[in-house]
Amino acid sequence: MRLRTGLLGIGKIARDQHIPAIAGNSRFELVACASRNARVDDVANFKDLESMLAALPDLHCVSICTPPQAHFDAALMALRAGCHVMLEKPPTATTRQIALLAEEAARSGRTLFQTWHSRFAAGVDSAREWLRGRKLVSGKIVWKEDVHFWHPGQRWIWEPGGFGVFDPGINALSLLTELLPDEVAVERARLEFPENQQAPIAATLALRTTAGVNIVAEFDFRQKGEQSWDIELATTSGALKLSRGGAGLELDGRIETLDEGLAGEYPRLYRRFASLCEAGKSEVDWRPFQLVADAFLIGERRIVAPHEI
Ligand code: NAP
Repeated sequence: MRLRTGLLGIGKIARDQHIPAIAGNSRFELVACASRNARVDDVANFKDLESMLAALPDLHCVSICTPPQAHFDAALMALRAGCHVMLEKPPTATTRQIALLAEEAARSGRTLFQTWHSRFAAGVDSAREWLRGRKLVSGKIVWKEDVHFWHPGQRWIWEPGGFGVFDPGINALSLLTELLPDEVAVERARLEFPENQQAPIAATLALRTTAGVNIVAEFDFRQKGEQSWDIELATTSGALKLSRGGAGLELDGRIETLDEGLAGEYPRLYRRFASLCEAGKSEVDWRPFQLVADAFLIGERRIVAPHEI
């Protein structure tokens, strides 16, 4: 039986990735969408999740593609209606909310797949394999992009719970926590807030692993020219560079993987979602989110010039 699926929040990621990935996976059937302002052809359309769930009591799954501020209420409602839930990153607006969702999924016996799409990038499995058994010496993350190009008109990103530069930056932390054999914590942080916005435009984090290795992470939304989504890890026996958000991998300067961008990530995400639903399991890992929350807690704040959206 195919998993009858509803999509919530029809914006950039829903159209670019979720709709094609669902269409390409025979385990799923997209039957409905819920969005306040958008419609999708050839499926039932609703203004909100509540009316979608009321009209379609036989829905199996809800995939949530709204900004993080709207994730908690929607995921809770879908789980309580008996649906499996796939949640876009960042998981929720507060750390307590994702813990509560995990508890609700366990209680209701439904799958909660709290996704980190970058972990499904082409270079990640080989990078994890290569690192296993090697001794890390240092690490550097450079995650710098032009917010005007990648997030045009996305007001929510600058509002409380919108994460600012951590909306893309949390992807780097999702990779780091996936790759490192040791755990990592934030030691110091500096956040730059435009004086007219509620979320940071840039941040620098000093992280340290439980083995005492220092990792520096730089995030910036003001990047012009070449964009960077790179992680470099030096070990006592060679160096690794993950580039293009995990789609490119170099081991000791040798190119290992070809770039497929986001294209391969979402088909893999939906394959994982199908197996989790079939196995009756959830997948939730909020460590990357804790790192961001900790940066907000201990970070020095600097106010910078106003930023136009
Ligand atoms: P987006 O283009 O702004 O689309 C999100 C849609 O959600 C909006 O078009 C809006 O549609 C709906 N929505 C519901 N509640 C909303 C609210 N309170 N504020 C604003 N919109 C609301 O955003 P997106 O780029 O698709 O990103 C959505 C989520 O996917 C984010 O968590 C983001 O981090 C994640 N993501 C994005 C990308 C990417 O490349 N863009 C990649 C990976 C992950 P209606 O107005 O019709 O309701």
